[in-house]
Parts: sequence; structure tokens; C-alpha cells
Amino acid sequence: MYLKRLEMSGFKSFANRTEFKFVPGITAIVGPNGSGKSNVTDGIRWVLGEQSARSLRGAKMEDVIFAGSSDRKPVGFCEVSITFDNSEQRLAYDYPEITVTRRVYRSGESEYLLNKQPCRLKDINELFMDTGIGKEAYSVISQGKIDDILSTKSEDRRAIFEEAAGIVKYKTRKKDAQKKLEMTEQNLTRIHDLIHELE
Ligand code: ATP
Repeated sequence: MYLKRLEMSGFKSFANRTEFKFVPGITAIVGPNGSGKSNVTDGIRWVLGEQSARSLRGAKMEDVIFAGSSDRKPVGFCEVSITFDNSEQRLAYDYPEITVTRRVYRSGESEYLLNKQPCRLKDINELFMDTGIGKEAYSVISQGKIDDILSTKSEDRRAIFEEAAGIVKYKTRKKDAQKKLEMTEQNLTRIHDLIHELE
């Protein structure tokens, strides 16, 4: 599985529709300071569900939409699509290519799409769980991230190894199952109380 394509439209400095095509191997993006190199990785994290405007180097989420320049008006919405090759079926999704799209409007409306079908962020998170791909995953190492990893608490560092080991999905399922169990126990207590009252 590899990153095949990234398309951005109205995202940060990419006012026009811009397409990056990647081939297997190493790709380097070079350019002068402020030309938008980091905006490319911001786009990758954003489409995979990043919710924190600060970690995308903005103050509010709307800051990801092209804000205009001396010769161009601001735009009303932005869209980023990321395409992965899935010909080896590494992701549990029965298609040779997987495209995730995120769109947000200045009004605050937003949507996620999986191969052009509307979906929830939860579906995207579940699909990429334990693959190392995701907004928090280790596939994107931004500036200063190595320092963060070295200085974080050991439990936080452990989360990185757990993702690499592929056990996050089991931990998530366990948490969901525990929540359901708790709810069922509460319902049972309520039923016992009702029976007690009726007797
Ligand atoms: P450096 O090499 O200094 O790290 P860089 O190539 O990584 O720079 P970025 O930080 O990706 O550059 O891009 C910064 C540019 O993006 C700035 O010129 C900034 O004005 C522009 N930019 C960021 N958000 C927006 C936005 N919402 N609308 C228009 N331009 C934006």
C-alpha cells in the first residue's frame, strides 16, 4: 500500500486545484521558505481527520480555507482528497484504490467521503487503524515531533508502539465492549429495581 495521489483545492495556499502524483520510492518536495511545503503535510493530516486548528498552524478551522491574496479573492470552501493504492488489499476495503475526501465550507458545514460515498470520520479512523496512517499516527512526522516523542510520558510513547504492533483496533473494540457491558449492567439494575417495586 502506498500513497498514490493528493489533490487539494482551496486548501491553505493551494487556491487552485493542485494534484500531486506519487510513485513508489522516495519523493522530496522542495521550495523556498513559505512556498507551502508544510501545507502539503497539513493537507494529508487534515483529510485524515485532524480536528485541531492549532496543530494545523491556524487559530480556527476556517483558517485552512484559502484566505485570499493580493491578486485573488478568498474562496468559500476547500477540499482535499488522498488516494492510496490498495491492490494488495492491506486495508479491509474491497477496492484496489481508496480515496478519502474531506470538504469544509466557511459556514462550518463539512463532510467526509470514502471513494466518493459520504461517510463518518469514525469509518475512516476504523479503516486506517493500526496501519500507521492517520492524523495521530507515526506516518507523518512533522517538525518537532521527534522531540515531542522523546519527551512525552512513557504511556504516550507506548501508544506509538501499539499502533505499529497492530493492537489498537483490539483495544478500541475492548473499550466499546466494556462501555456496552456497563450500560447493560445499569439496565439490569434498573430492571431489578422495577421487579422489586412490583413484588
Ligand atoms: P518553510 O520552509 O518556511 O517551513 P513552507 O514551504 O513549509 O515554509 P508553509 O508553512 O507550508 O511553507 O506555507 C506558508 C504559506 O502558506 C504562507 O505564505 C501563508 O500565507 C500561506 N497560507 C497558509 N494558510 C493560508 C490560507 N488560509 N490562505 C492563504 N494562504 C495561506
